[in-house]
Amino acid sequence: RKEEKMLELKNISKVYKNKNYMNQALNEINLSFRKNEFVSILGSSGAGKTTLLNIIGGLDKYTKGNMLINGNSTKKYNDSNWDAYRNMHVGFIFQNYNLIKHISVYKIVEIALTLSRVKDKKEKVMEVLKKVGLENFAYKKPNELSGGQMQRVAIARALVNDPDIILADEPTGALDSKTSITIMNLIKEVSKDKLVIMVSHNEALAKKYSNRIIRIKDGKVISDSNPFISRNKESKIKFKKTKMKFMDALILSFNNLKNKKNRTILTSLASSIGIIGIALILSISAGFKKQINDYEKDTASLFPISILEENKETKKDDNLDKNKDDGNNEIYIDETKDNIIRNNITSDYVNYVEKIDKKYINTISYKRITNFNLMSSNNIEYKNINQSDINFTELPNINDEKTYIKNNYKILCGSYPKNYDEIVLIINESNTIDKKLINTLFISTNKNKVAFSELLGKELRIVKNDDYYKKISNDIFIKNEPSKTVYDKSNLSIKIVGILKEKKSDYINSVTSDGSYYKIGYKKELIDKIVLENKDSEIVKMQKTSDNIVFMGNTSFDEMDINKKVALKMLGENSLPVSIHIYPNDFKSKNIIKKYLVNYNKGKLNKITYTDYAGNMIDLTNNMMKSITIILISFSSISLVVSSIMVGIITYISVLERTKEIGILRSLGARKKDIRRVFNAETFIIGNISGFVAIFISKILLKIINEVLYHFTGLKNIAILKLDKIVLLLLLSIIITMLSGFISSKKASLKDPIEALKNE
Ligand code: ADP
Repeated sequence: RKEEKMLELKNISKVYKNKNYMNQALNEINLSFRKNEFVSILGSSGAGKTTLLNIIGGLDKYTKGNMLINGNSTKKYNDSNWDAYRNMHVGFIFQNYNLIKHISVYKIVEIALTLSRVKDKKEKVMEVLKKVGLENFAYKKPNELSGGQMQRVAIARALVNDPDIILADEPTGALDSKTSITIMNLIKEVSKDKLVIMVSHNEALAKKYSNRIIRIKDGKVISDSNPFISRNKESKIKFKKTKMKFMDALILSFNNLKNKKNRTILTSLASSIGIIGIALILSISAGFKKQINDYEKDTASLFPISILEENKETKKDDNLDKNKDDGNNEIYIDETKDNIIRNNITSDYVNYVEKIDKKYINTISYKRITNFNLMSSNNIEYKNINQSDINFTELPNINDEKTYIKNNYKILCGSYPKNYDEIVLIINESNTIDKKLINTLFISTNKNKVAFSELLGKELRIVKNDDYYKKISNDIFIKNEPSKTVYDKSNLSIKIVGILKEKKSDYINSVTSDGSYYKIGYKKELIDKIVLENKDSEIVKMQKTSDNIVFMGNTSFDEMDINKKVALKMLGENSLPVSIHIYPNDFKSKNIIKKYLVNYNKGKLNKITYTDYAGNMIDLTNNMMKSITIILISFSSISLVVSSIMVGIITYISVLERTKEIGILRSLGARKKDIRRVFNAETFIIGNISGFVAIFISKILLKIINEVLYHFTGLKNIAILKLDKIVLLLLLSIIITMLSGFISSKKASLKDPIEALKNE
């Protein structure tokens, strides 16, 4: 049988370089090994035995020479080649066993298989455990085993991948002589179909069991009892790459964390604090935002969109900040602004508004300023009624009048007006009118109450401009003294046909929502009638030509804070409103109406803007909520930073504690990447735990917070943590803990495996 060459060392030298000295551990070693043999390497301490073994095992790198595996040079091996070599071709047995302490015997043996991604792991592990006589100890942990048993676990681990080479570094060094013999027998058994290279002090054992003894001294081979010289026969070998799945890394780290329960829990708790803070803030602000939106949908949307001819609202001009004191004793004039936003409400615009699809609208209310020229009389006395003494309001023009009346009013007596000459008295829940109205209507009573019957049917007269005013000079008109003559000239009398009480529930739409006791409601047709009578009157004609107010006696417009347009409206030249309030049906309608109103301005010079006071208020509140949320989140981010620093420190400590494990894993062929993965797995688990802990604690705290908020606001379950936020927070927790562990895990992966193994 031709002996096959397994391993060949050619002029291998190893020099350890330190700052101050160089140490030549191996010096030009030339050795070849057969495919099956039991080689013992003997030599005194410091001779270079371990160094040689580590180089053969790919744990350490030679500085000079070459090592051939199955005839293949290893000169160009990269990390991943070495990892695969260690994993698939070499099994290590150490003097101090080097078992990962926190996992079971079964797991310890399995890891080597895991790294090479072998299937049917369980079968293989149990088979090899049986071989070393430990099949009944599979689920024990190393600290429950004797030294001999531990070494058997190590042998099982070395064998499980069925490697070609077994490297044993003083395998019986820590065992008593009796146990040593059983271990040596086991190794001898193994060497039947493998290359076993054993480093030993024990000359007797070596002689008894091995079939080749190599002695080294000062890094040189000084004797070889059975040298092997062979012809080179090149053969290519292909390595499968080793790899640890994240899942396996997870299991490994999970077991480690399980052993440090308290620390894990404390770490997770601490790192969850930042997440809890953010969870609380997010849920509370989301809750408030929802409340605001609900309010907007339910209530605020029913507040009107207002189109005001004169809007006293001032808008701050940002440009003003640029007007700096230039030191010339001067101040700036803003020429662009008189602080009044003027909308020119035209009949075109009114028509446009009237064309809004009625299904979006609850009501549209118009405010007009047409003078009625009202007179009252008890047939003895005559009075001009100052229009501001009575609260007149135009009854909205609606499609479904019946429903509108039913929704808004209770008819106390009489009926809702049907004709232009019919008016109604509308009172609110205070059931009160004022003395002024009583006087106006010439009702005399010495009680503090008035009967419906006294009010119902009461009549007022509307007088034409031409009868109501008289011209006293070229451009001044004054009111005629109230008299029977004037009163009788009127052919338009209006009378109270009903008394209505508004329903409080729908106060938003109600005509008396301004807080006054009562209103007199009239129909739009009445205005049309008045305008028809007055638009060509003398006073209107005069007003059209004059630059002053003709009915106030040469008073200028500026003095009265009105303009010519307003004056003409008052005198009945036209019936255009000074303001329009559109009450939408709901939130969606409101937005549709707003869009519709904006569309009017397209391509128009006369742009008309609306105001949505409720909407503005809500925008303001929402913006405030947003700012507060941002500020609070920045605060809790600080605690997030603190907790991630802590996780970083703890991972670092864990790396220090698990240094040995790193060495073991590396000797089994784990890549640097796999080591990183083990520690990333650890922070991943911590991140998960702290995420779940955070969410659990947040849920409890939110219950309490909701109780408190309920107590103060009467709103139930404001703060809610929704599923999407939960997922987000979990991710945040995992990412942050993993990030904070990255430096440590990177450091771990760069550890020298031999140095790492020396750790205890
Ligand atoms: P043995 O196993 O025969 O006791 P070693 O192989 O451990 O000997 O060591 C061989 C020589 O190399 C010794 O002089 C030792 O001090 C030196 N040596 C081993 N490891 C290192 C190292 N990491 N750095 C520097 N010198 C080392």
